[in-house]
Amino acid sequence: MCGIVGYLGSRSAAPVLINGLKRLEYRGYDSAGIALHHQGINVIKASGRLTALAGLVSEQQPQGTVGIGHTRWATHGRPSDENSHPHSDCTGSFAVVHNGIIENYRELTAQLEAGGHIFHSETDTEVVAHLLDEL
Ligand code: GLU
Repeated sequence: MCGIVGYLGSRSAAPVLINGLKRLEYRGYDSAGIALHHQGINVIKASGRLTALAGLVSEQQPQGTVGIGHTRWATHGRPSDENSHPHSDCTGSFAVVHNGIIENYRELTAQLEAGGHIFHSETDTEVVAHLLDEL
């Protein structure tokens, strides 16, 4: 069971999101990530414990007061950096986090790949970002 957190406000979003994800750790997870909106979308994610993500965030000091965060419990695709959420479309215009299973993702992925979309993960979730871009 994964966790999802979002923030929009006047504070720096990254520490708020990391703190929110820490509070959701009890639900269990295999990887974690955040996306911040600041002159485009900046995605930072890592498999393993939240401390791995927190380390990257501390190194990169991402800007932005709007963001989303996710702790993943894999259902489609092994736990890995690439399969961690958030997932983006080809243009980087969308970043998506998701809890659950998209039953028809194989059909949707095949349609989108036929239309030129390039996927970077093994997850069902990534299809949502490409579908948003397509629409
Ligand atoms: N099905 C998605 C995945 O495997 C979401 C899993 C979850 O609920 O954390 O990435």
